[in-house]
Order: sequence, then C-alpha cells, then structure tokens
Amino acid sequence: MADKNIMARRKFLHMALKANYKVRVHLSEHLLNTPRTNHLIPINISDLGLSTFGECFATMTHIVTIESYTLSNADIRPPYYQIKTVFHEFYHARMHNLVYDGHSNYNRWLAMEETAAETAAHAMYRLIGLKQELNPAYGHYLVQLLPRLKRLEKSEFKNCLHIHQFGLKFLKYRFSENTASWMSLMESCVKIKLDIIDYAFVNYRDYVYANTQEIASIIWESENDPDKFADKNAYIQYIADDIIYGWENKEITYPGMYNSLCIAMNRIGVK
Ligand SMILES: [Zn+2]
Repeated sequence: MADKNIMARRKFLHMALKANYKVRVHLSEHLLNTPRTNHLIPINISDLGLSTFGECFATMTHIVTIESYTLSNADIRPPYYQIKTVFHEFYHARMHNLVYDGHSNYNRWLAMEETAAETAAHAMYRLIGLKQELNPAYGHYLVQLLPRLKRLEKSEFKNCLHIHQFGLKFLKYRFSENTASWMSLMESCVKIKLDIIDYAFVNYRDYVYANTQEIASIIWESENDPDKFADKNAYIQYIADDIIYGWENKEITYPGMYNSLCIAMNRIGVK
C-alpha cells in the first residue's frame, strides 16, 4: 500500500490540477465538490473585516459540522495570497463529519488546527507550482509549534525545514487519514520545554537584523491596507521599525517579532 503522505498528495493534486485559479470562488467550488464537502457550495463572499480573509464556521459536538465557507470581499492582497487562503479554508472545510477531540482545551486544539491548515496550505501552494514567498498567517502559533513538532520523540517532522515541508506531513491528516483529533499531538508538544525568546535570539536574531528591510517588504505585500500604496517606502520603513521594536523588547506576542521570526525560520530552516 502506498505511503499515506503520498496518497494524500496524490488526492490533493487530483482535485487541484484541473481547477480554475483565476477566480477564487470557482477554485473553492471546484475543491469543495467532493462527497465530504459539497454541501458547502455555493461559497459566500462577504465582509469579514480587514484582517480576516477566509472563515469556516463550524459547530463542534463529538464531530465537526462545517456550516459555511466564506471568503473576504475586501481582500486586496496579491492573487497568490488569495489562493493560499482558499487552500487554508479548504483544509478546515475537510474537517466536516470528522471526530473532534478539543473539548478539554479548545485553544490548544485550535493552535494545532491552524498550524496544520496554514502549513498544509503552503504545501498545496507549492504543489501547484506557486513559488512567491509568503508571510505566513498564524505566525504566533507556528513559531511556538514547529520547533516543538521537530523535537517530538520519533517525530515525523524531524527533517522538516521549511513551512511547506511540515504541511506535506499535515496533508495526510485531512486527505488520507481524515482526522480532526489533535489533542494527543498537541499535549506532546506542550510538554517540550522551549524558551522561545532564547531560541529566537540564538538562531534567528542576526538573520532578521541583517535582512530587516527585505523581511519588511514581504510583510508589506501581505498587508490588507489600502493606504499601503500611498507611500510604499515609508510604510515598509514603519514595518521594519516595528520588527526591531519587537525584538528589542523581546515581545514574542508582538506581530513585528513573530512575523519576522516566522519568515526567517521559513527562509533559513526551522531549527
Ligand atoms: Zn484557519
């Protein structure tokens, strides 16, 4: 029998290769047109505020019911970001009818679900041939969980360096093993002791300081702010200052710090 990771990749590619990538509604409808998720068609496009680009509304009992799939009507980011968002929500949507185990600690469950959805979206993005660098969403979860996933005993993530490589492993949880149960994996991660500030400073501080402007430009591309075009250089400088502010103050919950750290981890590899 083929490896479950390979089966998951094949299944995704089978769904994805004939899709129309020009119109995200058509792309979403095409991807959701499977026995598990076709109840969601048509897709909603509506106002989700400026910082939410997609949303699957779900009810959780012992199983997950995905009630709706929505994309933002105010997403001004480049098309490749919008495709990544479609893949991210697609990963969530495939939770429909799967067993949910996050009752004891929803926040912990959610941290792993978002980590899985975002890294898997990066994997799907690469599998269809997109290569533009992304500012990952949910960087605050990724910086905490990716190094811990690598450090698990006999970890399947041990050799993963870049975000899409973690995502290739997470694909199987929705495309071949079909599970929405994260608590065992999450509880193992929580037990791994890791001082994230120490980790960031030892492994990535010099890189971020040497590449602040370039990292700030990547973050600028991901900003969903219509004002960002008025004075691009000043806006990028503002982001760069914000990055340094985060690092100087060792504020891992500060976007300037965790986004730049996450981009650096993705570029030079998760240690
Ligand atoms: Zn999500």
